[in-house]
Amino acid sequence: MSFDLSLTGAQQDLVERTHAFAEDVIRPVAAKYDKEQAFPWPVLEKAAEAGFYGPLFYRDLIGDPTGLSLPLFMEELFWGCAGIGLAVVMPALALSSIGQAATPEQMLRWAPECFGTPGDLKLAALCVSEPEGGSDVRNLRTTAKRDGDHWIIDGHKMWIGNGGIANVHVVNATVDPDLGHRGQALFIVPGDTPGIELVRKLDKLGCRASHTAELRFHGCRIPADHLLGGDEKLNKKLERARADAESQSGKRKSSTLGTFEQTRPMVAAQALGIARAALEFATEYANRREAFGAPIIDNQGVSFPLADIATQLDAARLLTWRASWMGANGVPFQHAEGSMSKLAASEIAVRATEQAIQTCGGWGYITDNPVEKWYRDAKLYTIFEGTSEIQRMVIGKSLGAADGAPPLHFDLPVDGGQLNRQFGRGTPLRTRLGQAALSAKDRVPAPALRAAMKFLTPPNR
Ligand SMILES: Cc1cc2nc3c(=O)[nH]c(=O)nc-3n(C[C@H](O)[C@H](O)[C@H](O)COP(=O)(O)OP(=O)(O)OC[C@H]3O[C@@H](n4cnc5c(N)ncnc54)[C@H](O)[C@@H]3O)c2cc1C
Repeated sequence: MSFDLSLTGAQQDLVERTHAFAEDVIRPVAAKYDKEQAFPWPVLEKAAEAGFYGPLFYRDLIGDPTGLSLPLFMEELFWGCAGIGLAVVMPALALSSIGQAATPEQMLRWAPECFGTPGDLKLAALCVSEPEGGSDVRNLRTTAKRDGDHWIIDGHKMWIGNGGIANVHVVNATVDPDLGHRGQALFIVPGDTPGIELVRKLDKLGCRASHTAELRFHGCRIPADHLLGGDEKLNKKLERARADAESQSGKRKSSTLGTFEQTRPMVAAQALGIARAALEFATEYANRREAFGAPIIDNQGVSFPLADIATQLDAARLLTWRASWMGANGVPFQHAEGSMSKLAASEIAVRATEQAIQTCGGWGYITDNPVEKWYRDAKLYTIFEGTSEIQRMVIGKSLGAADGAPPLHFDLPVDGGQLNRQFGRGTPLRTRLGQAALSAKDRVPAPALRAAMKFLTPPNR
């Protein structure tokens, strides 16, 4: 039996603790931080005290073989507030890219620096996007040039979460511009490095409790060992890319693309949290609000859109859990399942929050209720970590590459072994047995027939 939606005890506990944190700590201050567009330091402190802010916590969640712990945590946290949620999880995004590129020694050195400890919190940022290149990562212009025992980073980054206030900046920079994204590498630029300029904190539509910035790196000199993965790995990667470029077969992914592929289900789960918050609020409101002498939910015009959203939300959650399970079990994303989860979850988050406003009418349009904020927050999810168009592009390309290929479950290793293949449900042998039992029903004593039918009847009936 390999399909199971029931949670383990630890997962259930994680859900309950995170939900309580979102409800008791995050929700009461969400509107204030949104309005003031201030960084929620006190909430981060409480998250650290509750054990939700640290490298070992994420290491533990990523190590869950079902893959579900991380999306479960994200959904509950972001149910509270997406802006505060982003502030809490931003170092995990940077840590995830460090984890994919770094040597074990580098991981040990930098992971604690991304979070700090309660009372002495630290922040981390993943700096990829640039003013000229968000979706098109081949177009990144930040450069890293070797100078003896150092690298010199020069460039301009845009929309960087925790940018300029982080203790650790994980910076994507081009080492060999002729090789496009395969000529790029990731570098650690500590926050106190001379030459980092926080150009401006960006004024955003939503997720306003998170800090998002425009940054410049002016000749930032960092030690050679701040190149993630080290010299040898980079040189091998560049050699392979050059050889492939000569033979025109360069199709390998850069570590940045790898990071995005693996983090998409995590971002999808965040969008699910916003969508669920909106659906719950709208449903509760529609039950309570009366118009023309009855609760408005009695009108199909109100309940049908909510029914569609409930359906699409569950579908998006299943896609997200599938992609997370695949990531945890090393199943390749050949059909772009990570992108599917991000596309479905972000689009339903926008629809759910928009419908929540519609359901609440005038009360949804003003700041007395949180739905207008959730609508602003949700919109980010069709833009960052790959826009919806980019997700469709990735899914479309995978469709083209796997022309006529069957769905994922055709390719997965088979569970249950040979006996199951011979005697399991739906096998010809079982069908023949059933038919024989039916045709012998008048000749076989009733107790024997009952025993045979019991064997063939589905369980739990
Ligand atoms: C609040 C916020 C936080 C962010 N945080 C971070 C962060 O921490 N670190 C980081 O590195 N980046 C971050 N980003 C950047 C984000 O990932 C980019 O904004 C996003 O990838 C889109 O890039 P762009 O803005 O340059 O849009 P563009 O790439 O210029 O796209 C503009 C429009 O064109 C469409 N488009 C582009 N190419 C195609 C195509 N081939 N086919 C069809 N349509 C296309 C896009 O879908 C989009 O609708 C953040 C962005 C925001 C808004």
